Amino acid sequence: MNRVYNFSAGPSMLPMPVLQRAADELLCYGDSGMSVMEMSHRSADYEPIIADAEAMLRKLMNIPDNYKVLFLQGGASTQFAAIPLNLIGRTGKADYAVSGQFSGKAFKEAQKMGYDVKCIATTKDDNFDHVPVITKDMIRPDAAYLHICFNNTIYGTKYPYIPDTGDVPLVADLSSCIISEPVDVSKFGVIYAGAQKNMAPAGLTLVIVREDLLDYADPKMPTMLEWKTMAENGSMYNTPPCYTIYMAKLVYEWILSLGGLDVMKEMNVKKANLLYDYLDSQDYYIAPVKKESRSLMNVTFVTGDAELDKKFAKEAAAAGLKNLKGHRSVGGMRASIYNAMPYEGVEALVAFMKDFAANNPKA
Ligand SMILES: *Cc1c(COP(=O)(O)O)cnc(C)c1O
Repeated sequence: MNRVYNFSAGPSMLPMPVLQRAADELLCYGDSGMSVMEMSHRSADYEPIIADAEAMLRKLMNIPDNYKVLFLQGGASTQFAAIPLNLIGRTGKADYAVSGQFSGKAFKEAQKMGYDVKCIATTKDDNFDHVPVITKDMIRPDAAYLHICFNNTIYGTKYPYIPDTGDVPLVADLSSCIISEPVDVSKFGVIYAGAQKNMAPAGLTLVIVREDLLDYADPKMPTMLEWKTMAENGSMYNTPPCYTIYMAKLVYEWILSLGGLDVMKEMNVKKANLLYDYLDSQDYYIAPVKKESRSLMNVTFVTGDAELDKKFAKEAAAAGLKNLKGHRSVGGMRASIYNAMPYEGVEALVAFMKDFAANNPKA
């Protein structure tokens, strides 16, 4: 077996101990005589799996009791539509900050549905090289919510603080930074995330929603998008993504065994610093993101020469450092260094970067 360092933005690396445990339990889970993949979601064997997944996540993120945890399908992108459908009924209008592609898509989806939505801030004119400043006075006081994308996977930016929205609920896409460090859940009305970046394989979408926000759903909305229905049915209105929830549970268990999100943050800061410190120490590679907006999870850099960038990604892949090519819309390189990426992977990347720079002088 020859495992590589996989810097993919998502689906992305999973922790080795988690994959090993899943392999050990693949054919027969406990004394059930079957794989988790084969189980009824309403069976006595499966029920503790989803219950433990929720309990572990609550412990890990310190989720207050007045928040519901939903295990859904459809990806973060389905929530772009579900969010206005569930919440806009509060006041009839909603505000958005656009800090990259995903928040742009979320905004457009709400616009497409014909709602009164307003983009209150964007950094589009700066190629999203930082996140916008958001202050309370920018938000319409009667907005049903303010939507932000907390970590911008494609550009490699992140809000360095949780914006103060006053009484307006903050709705945040945490797809690419969830469980990478502690966050104060009580500052958010809704947190949502596709699982395939930092939590589990693709197929699971997590929604954490404050209970008082469950009462504003558009009565004509599709039942499958209605958080209240999902909450009342313990995420089992229909068949949930059973196996992916099991994988998420193994990931939560792994993080808890390491000491929780404080420890995770320490490890992630150490990895990100190794890479950013190197980037700041030289001038062969350029890190386009403004320092105060730097992401811990997605690190972008370019050589300034598209041909060299291409060569870099190709030679890095041949050296066992896979998926370093930047997003197709921005080019350059992107190293996604989620929880499962070991420190040694980032060390190997920095060593490769130094060799590449030495072997490929710029004209
Ligand atoms: C990947 C990603 C999405 C899209 O997620 P899907 O699950 O593919 O719909 C949305 N937002 C962010 C921040 C992402 O990183």
